[in-house]
Amino acid sequence: MELGTQAGKFAFLIFLAVFVLLEAVWLVWRRNEAYPWADTAASFGVAVIKRSIDTATAGLAAGVLFWVYDHRIATVELDSLWMLALFFLTVEFLYYWHHRLGHKIRWLWATHGVHHTAPQMNLSVAGRLGWTGLVSGTVLFFVPLAYIGFHPLAIFLMLAVSLFYQIWIHTELIGRLGPLEWVLNTPSNHRVHHASNPEYIDKNFGGVLMIYDVLFGTYTPERKDISIVYGITRPVTSRNPLVIGIYEWIRMAKDVVKARNPLEAFMYMFGKPGWKSRHQLESDLPVT
Ligand SMILES: [Zn+2]
Ligand SMILES: [Zn+2]
Repeated sequence: MELGTQAGKFAFLIFLAVFVLLEAVWLVWRRNEAYPWADTAASFGVAVIKRSIDTATAGLAAGVLFWVYDHRIATVELDSLWMLALFFLTVEFLYYWHHRLGHKIRWLWATHGVHHTAPQMNLSVAGRLGWTGLVSGTVLFFVPLAYIGFHPLAIFLMLAVSLFYQIWIHTELIGRLGPLEWVLNTPSNHRVHHASNPEYIDKNFGGVLMIYDVLFGTYTPERKDISIVYGITRPVTSRNPLVIGIYEWIRMAKDVVKARNPLEAFMYMFGKPGWKSRHQLESDLPVT
């Protein structure tokens, strides 16, 4: 029983490992391509630590949602297909904004940026996820759902569905999928999301769906004339999972220490990732 519960908690990792191996075998034996084993090992290191932290702290996030649910203003029963569809669309909506703000506010990026550190795209990247959601406050984005009466377990389950769905979109093996590209998050759409090319940066934030990107103007289809550069604009060269997991918090701390007043310190924490004070910008200029 206990073993079953633990296996359930690690199901994502087991599932991911099988898909990663299948993709690696295909690339190495069928396509004769080099496979980045070291980067994949780093992604798995990050994934195992994340799963362990999540398991150890699951009670905290759940505690927040259950506390809000206890003070809810109504109760929503998921007893029809329509309600399930509405619930799915609402979770997707919140996921979209959480993800979009995760790219715009450094405090959130410090957790989410980990996912973007991989220098190439393959299925293992789906497991390279930030560990510090509790510090960044991920759960707060989903609090409104519990407040209006969706059960916390249903919220966690829907987010897990999104997590599992997103495994298959981290690959270069699948091309464009016609009209589906406008509706679903596909490998092609998600390659754009992971690109650091200026034409592609901060686009395609949806989890399962692309409809909110189309609606809010962040949708960008993949183009044949652009060759994608994966990763972040200031790359993390280390393959040590511990470094990958906290690199942005370290960079942020260094910037905050350099801040010359509380406003600068605030901007280094809650401004856009990459924000620099005028003083810092000037001192970064090459001496002529
Ligand atoms: Zn992202
Ligand atoms: Zn991704």
